[in-house]
Amino acid sequence: MSIPSTVVVVGSSVAGVRAAQALRTEGFPGRLIMVGEEPDLPYDKPPLSKQFLAGSADVARVSLLTAETAEASGIELRLGAAADRLDISTKQLHLADGTVLDWDAVVLATGSAARPSPWTTESGVHVVRTMGDARALRDELQNDQPVVVVGGGFIGAEVAATAHALGRQVTVVDPLHAPIGRLVGSEVGEFFTELHHRHGVTTVFGVGVESVSGRAGDLTVTLTDGRELRAGTVVVGIGATPNDEWLATSGLLVENGVICDEYCRAVNTADVYAVGDLARCFRPTSKEHLRVEHWTNAVDSAAIAAHNIVCPDDLRSHQAVEYVWSDQYDWKIQIVGRPALATAHAVVGTLTGDTARGAAVYSDESGRLQGAVTVNWPKALMTCRRLMAADGTFEDARTELDALLSAARQKLGSAPQVVQPASREATRYAVGSGDPV
Ligand SMILES: Cc1cc2nc3c(=O)[nH]c(=O)nc-3n(C[C@H](O)[C@H](O)[C@H](O)COP(=O)(O)OP(=O)(O)OC[C@H]3O[C@@H](n4cnc5c(N)ncnc54)[C@H](O)[C@@H]3O)c2cc1C
Repeated sequence: MSIPSTVVVVGSSVAGVRAAQALRTEGFPGRLIMVGEEPDLPYDKPPLSKQFLAGSADVARVSLLTAETAEASGIELRLGAAADRLDISTKQLHLADGTVLDWDAVVLATGSAARPSPWTTESGVHVVRTMGDARALRDELQNDQPVVVVGGGFIGAEVAATAHALGRQVTVVDPLHAPIGRLVGSEVGEFFTELHHRHGVTTVFGVGVESVSGRAGDLTVTLTDGRELRAGTVVVGIGATPNDEWLATSGLLVENGVICDEYCRAVNTADVYAVGDLARCFRPTSKEHLRVEHWTNAVDSAAIAAHNIVCPDDLRSHQAVEYVWSDQYDWKIQIVGRPALATAHAVVGTLTGDTARGAAVYSDESGRLQGAVTVNWPKALMTCRRLMAADGTFEDARTELDALLSAARQKLGSAPQVVQPASREATRYAVGSGDPV
């Protein structure tokens, strides 16, 4: 099989940038164009609800690719140009500005968008997905008005933690009783609720939002039980949906993302690859098509697609174990695998209080390790990640984590410092790795 002459990458965030860079690393010698809807140079999303929102990371700190690096790598940037239509029969990409780009292979990396707020007001209601969203919210958080966050998932919890750190009075509302429980099970989810409370953030869980009215600085959130919450700012974090509408006429199989095989190739066609949040790749181990909205999945799938474009006779399969991290208050949370599918779990260490450092490990019905959630304990995460990759058991994980904990306690016995929750600086998001530094 031959290597294409021109590759067009559609989408200019982490999956698109990593795919373009990996194409060069893999030795792709041809023309490489990256198209992005947003006019900004490529930037990373995870800091938008954390350091960028808090004002401790600037644009340079969240940059994924500068104009100089792009030029040096031979990546032609076409930013501020949305892809409008993909024609797989003529191998052309049509942009909204009328430009038509020819391609021999195309990498689709248009990611996902925040699910829009069902409640519209003149001003004061925000989502957080783009740098523009984060800037607008950051500006509004400069006042001293209360903040209501609708949605207690990761983005909502991170925004609540950041707004709290900025001195805002924060209330998080979610119709579920333990919102993070969707990912980690309701029992472990309770520890996350307690985390909000320990920092003085109010939660109203198990109750939905009926309406939001008013304007920035003077908003009323009416709950389904009739209660009213006053807020200067409302942030809605109720999930994301794939940016796949523009592919509706392409002939690709699109169902909650672009359906791909295990090699990140769009099914029933040739030379079309999808990566990152947009892709629903087949996973040989669980035998399902899975769409994953995690940074590390974007990086992994981008590397795989790039390799498979350049080395079609040596295909690599996308089978990395899922991994996501989240920074909330003084917790560095890391999740490996899919705890939501577990049938049993055990907690090692402690997931409460000011010195929380522990892990929940999860078992499937046959005793295999299904996943793990770690708090302020990167070593435990690495252990579970290794065991997951090696198809280890739940008991292996418990035994190894117990041993880690005993070793840490013995060390503490000789040095009187109590285990500290990892500091902001020590656990800050490491651009380019997604792993704790
Ligand atoms: C606020 C926030 C915090 C997060 N925190 C974490 C975290 O702590 N840990 C973690 O693992 N994950 C986190 N994530 C998720 C992670 O950032 C995403 O999984 C990752 O950004 C996906 O990368 P992507 O390139 O596939 O898609 P996206 O980041 O969604 O990027 C898609 C790009 O395509 C562009 N685009 C869309 N449509 C078109 C079009 N028609 N034409 C051209 N361009 C288009 C968009 O403008 C965008 O630049 C966070 C996400 C957000 C929003």
